[in-house]
Amino acid sequence: MAHIIDGAAIAAAIRDEVKADVARFREAHGIAPGLATVLIGDNPASAAYVRNKRKTCEELGLTSFGYELPATTTQEEAVALVRELAGRPDVHGILVQLPLPAHINDQVVLAAVPLEKDVDGFHPSNMGRLGLKGREPSFAPCTPKGCIELLDRSGIPIAGKRAVVLGRSAIVGLPVALMLLARDATVTVCHSKTSDLAGVTRQADILIAAIGKPRFVTADMVKPGCIVIDVGINRVPDSTRKSGSRLVGDVDYEGVSPVAGAITPVPGGVGPMTIAMLMQNTLIAARRLVGE
Ligand code: NDP
Repeated sequence: MAHIIDGAAIAAAIRDEVKADVARFREAHGIAPGLATVLIGDNPASAAYVRNKRKTCEELGLTSFGYELPATTTQEEAVALVRELAGRPDVHGILVQLPLPAHINDQVVLAAVPLEKDVDGFHPSNMGRLGLKGREPSFAPCTPKGCIELLDRSGIPIAGKRAVVLGRSAIVGLPVALMLLARDATVTVCHSKTSDLAGVTRQADILIAAIGKPRFVTADMVKPGCIVIDVGINRVPDSTRKSGSRLVGDVDYEGVSPVAGAITPVPGGVGPMTIAMLMQNTLIAARRLVGE
């Protein structure tokens, strides 16, 4: 039976570390690390993510500045806000919650975030640097960074391992593949046009699933002993729950657990790591901006 990688516990430990460091920072500099969140439009999932991020800031002693703009906001207005935040000394990190309304080009808005405040790691230069040897990004994106941190804190070696990433999105699949490559894994990236997907995934020592398809990865797709990191968050109907639904990952947890060497549950795996990494990145941004 697989070792369960307890993302909730690992994320809690990281939050405790950040909280202690934030207290020291405030003591030394008389100011808290500050995160500005920019939420445009009325996507309820995005609003919930931003609420959660701001709440965690509060719990750890960071200051959060919330900006909520209507769906009618123009691209120019969004860029103007980001530029204003870029110039503020009390804002150390800027997070533009994605997705943006369709009429706004997210690349234009993300490119307006200065590299030193790009705590989400989505600036095109930071994304590019992830793939360039010897050019560290100022910040790595939070969910991929959370996946790597889960491996590291579980004592799972990456170098020399065969890693297979399911999904090539700019938010998860592609950056996590680049980060695994930078850590000397041999990486294969799969997507919706990959042929013989199971044949590829069965070669994986480390399998990262980020496709957004409930319980897609089944036991027959996994090599015995494989380390399985499940990024997926999918809501499925469940009549036994009061809410009528529950969250599952991209991996069939019950079926894959007996085969895998280690596995992350959903919920309680990668999910809590994302916010923990955002808090860590904001603290790093603040330290750098005061010259620590
Ligand atoms: P996207 O929809 O942007 O990307 C999905 C990727 O999966 C695409 O590259 C797509 O291929 C690929 N894909 C889709 N179907 C298949 C298939 N049948 N076989 C192989 N590949 C397939 O999703 P995201 O990357 O944004 O998110 C992925 C999952 O991770 C979602 O469940 C999301 O909720 C979750 N997530 C979790 C986070 C967390 O904090 N834990 C944070 C962000 C996301 P193609 O490129 O060919 O279309």
